[in-house]
Amino acid sequence: AWPIRLENASVTYPNGTAALKNVTLTIEPGEMVAIVGLSGSGKSTLIRTVNGLVPVTSGSVTVGPHEVSRLRGRALRELRSNVGMIFQAFNLAERVNVYRNTLVGRFAGQNAFRSFFGIASPEDRQIALDALDSVGMLDKVWTRAGSLSGGQKQRVAIARALSQDPRVMLADEPVASLDPPTAHAVMHELTRLNAERGLTVLVNLHLMDLARDYTTRMIGLRSGEVVYDGPAASASDAD
Ligand code: ADP
Ligand code: ADP
Repeated sequence: AWPIRLENASVTYPNGTAALKNVTLTIEPGEMVAIVGLSGSGKSTLIRTVNGLVPVTSGSVTVGPHEVSRLRGRALRELRSNVGMIFQAFNLAERVNVYRNTLVGRFAGQNAFRSFFGIASPEDRQIALDALDSVGMLDKVWTRAGSLSGGQKQRVAIARALSQDPRVMLADEPVASLDPPTAHAVMHELTRLNAERGLTVLVNLHLMDLARDYTTRMIGLRSGEVVYDGPAASASDAD
């Protein structure tokens, strides 16, 4: 697993919105950290700086051996192949089966053509099936992704990320569109992967009680600034 370090990282979007302001933090390898804050506080922006989807305007972001802001082309693809990402809206290919959606993780960081038409080796296939097994979705392997429930889709998205064999897992509001029992099941899954694989996990949550229940450290954002960084259990709603 890799550490993540932001040093005086700021992001100002082209329209002038200052979404992150001088954020400095270090996440150790194998930590599971929640980023908590209201909508618009900068959570997505922060997480997207880690895989280079959003460039920092100033400061730096370092992920394992990579200083993200300096990466271009091939080096950026290499970073992204090591960083798994799951989203609120799952981002699966709805018309394609679960197996094919998971296999795409083996081509993470490569261009769209290769990720869809690339030739999977027997090892790639086995890794994808193992990933589906580990999230309890092996029995749905030939099911079209579009016909799954929300919780099942998120499990497939986790399997897709896992099949990358990532060093870091990023999750942008992964349970925001799920009902509470399903949200808890998916959070439990992420906690288990963090514990069993020692994966570094950074998860955006807008509900503080989920952060308290499933993570040990919480980083609170307000208007792009870090206003809390400490144990999840003792954080109060006033923070
Ligand atoms: P969320 O809060 O769940 O990230 P949003 O609806 O705020 O979702 O954003 C959806 C998409 O629109 C994201 O890709 C985000 O980067 C982009 N976006 C959000 N706010 C703005 C804005 N003010 N101008 C341009 N794009 C925006
Ligand atoms: P959160 O994930 O906490 O909802 P975001 O990182 O999505 O917060 O947004 C932080 C701020 O940046 C918000 O004011 C949002 O409108 C703005 N924003 C997000 N994406 C863009 C974008 N692509 N262009 C301009 N403004 C954006």
